[in-house]
Amino acid sequence: MLPMLYNVSTILKEHTGASREYDVDDDVQIDGETHSLHGHVRLDRTPRGVLVRAALRGTVQAPCSRCLRPATLPIDLAIEEEFVPTIDVISGARIETLEGEEDAYRISARHELDLREPVRQYWAMAMPMAPLCREDCAGLCPACGSEMNPEHACAQPPLDERWAKLARLNEG
Ligand SMILES: [Zn+2]
Ligand SMILES: [Zn+2]
Repeated sequence: MLPMLYNVSTILKEHTGASREYDVDDDVQIDGETHSLHGHVRLDRTPRGVLVRAALRGTVQAPCSRCLRPATLPIDLAIEEEFVPTIDVISGARIETLEGEEDAYRISARHELDLREPVRQYWAMAMPMAPLCREDCAGLCPACGSEMNPEHACAQPPLDERWAKLARLNEG
């Protein structure tokens, strides 16, 4: 079985409320990079299909938006999506898409539920806009450009002092 791919042919034959639980410890391709995902997936049979609830954690490397140092950031995904079948698991008949359901996630004709697409979408939403190496990162010193972390004793005079000096020079 490929990572994030679940065969749901047996749960589809069961009654609403039937469920399956899986541990996740998989490498998944997201945006051309391999990310390790850990966590838990629960599948519940619904009247229409299968409700997926997954709590997954991965990590991503990104430069800190304040100090530009590479930072390792946790990415937490709380996925909740209903998948609807394309083929009736008992009769083999094609199931027509209901109006308003065109965008629903589909279980494949081989009764496989592919979590990779929701994982990609939730991953993109979970990516921080302004990643921080740590919550209280002090960023870069405006005078010398080196890191303010942890306590930066700057050898340069503050920037505005230098501007002032430059202004005095210009005044001649
Ligand atoms: Zn930082
Ligand atoms: Zn400095």
